[in-house]
Amino acid sequence: MQHFNPSTILYTPDALNERGKRALLTYPEAIQQEIKQHNRLPELEGNHYQVKSNVLVLGRLKTLVCRESGRSSDFIAPSLANGCMGACAYCYVDRNKAVNPITLFTNTEEILLAVDKHVQQQAWPKVPNQTHAQFYTYDIGCNSDVSVDASISDSVETAVHFFREHPKAFATFATKFVNPQMLTYDPQGKTRIRFSLLPRKVSKLVDVRTDSLEKRLAAINDFYQAGYDVHVNFSPVIVYEGWLDDYRELFEQLNEVVHPNLKKQMDCEVIFLTHNQWQHNINLSINPKAEDLIWAPEIQESKKSQFGGINIRYQYQLKAGWINDFRKLQQEVIPWCTIRYIF
Ligand code: SF4
Repeated sequence: MQHFNPSTILYTPDALNERGKRALLTYPEAIQQEIKQHNRLPELEGNHYQVKSNVLVLGRLKTLVCRESGRSSDFIAPSLANGCMGACAYCYVDRNKAVNPITLFTNTEEILLAVDKHVQQQAWPKVPNQTHAQFYTYDIGCNSDVSVDASISDSVETAVHFFREHPKAFATFATKFVNPQMLTYDPQGKTRIRFSLLPRKVSKLVDVRTDSLEKRLAAINDFYQAGYDVHVNFSPVIVYEGWLDDYRELFEQLNEVVHPNLKKQMDCEVIFLTHNQWQHNINLSINPKAEDLIWAPEIQESKKSQFGGINIRYQYQLKAGWINDFRKLQQEVIPWCTIRYIF
């Protein structure tokens, strides 16, 4: 995994608990600057992508709310972090933000306490659903990439240990990185890692600064053997001439690498691309080749998002047909990898 090595750290005074202070010590060369609010940053040097790799923000998360999810998980936990050093062309985490450096929320214990309070209010035993038959599932990586966060502080390790010991709660996150440090966390089956997979040539173009498809595939069995519940996340599915042939190749690669025992329990989720008008305009100057692939107005339709931006999705009826095609291919090549949901 590319090493995150910020040259500037901005911090709010209330973020400097032990974890915050350790983060400052981890990057002794970095310029340190106190700020008043983690979400009101001073003018930063460099463009959006430079800021993602050069700047770290340390803050304290004050809004400790668990939100409903219903797809990847039952609930979305309060964020351990926000932002990512990756630069994926379609990433919703960055959408509508002029700059979005990684912000690490150092009050991990408070965040986990909020999860505990929340899960204790749920009916028990849980009614089994596609996210988990027994435990309430909390996505801990909706606004960042947890594998990157784990390279910056012990917040992810702390979270994995919390979920390991918890009688009702279960953690889950999708990732496009491979962080071998996490193999030592001993989750004992209470954290699900969902490796995000796209066909190789597409991934090379749109998953900028993430780990390669080969690395993600090669890590699957290692994480399983280290005690993670491992799933795969086919997201985003991008449609172009020959896309199904590329997915056939990807499924064959997956079929080849996954250990037979893991095949008995590995499921997947499938999410077709959602793009965004604002992001398209920014990408045109930075990664125009990716835009050739993900901006296809003749097969897409727009929808105003809840945050006011214009999101772009594949036309409903076309997508219904492609979902059928995807399901058929999955049944043919990797029937053991049950689709938890597809849209
Ligand atoms: S790895 Fe995930 S969070 Fe990071 S830029 Fe890519 S899609 Fe966004």
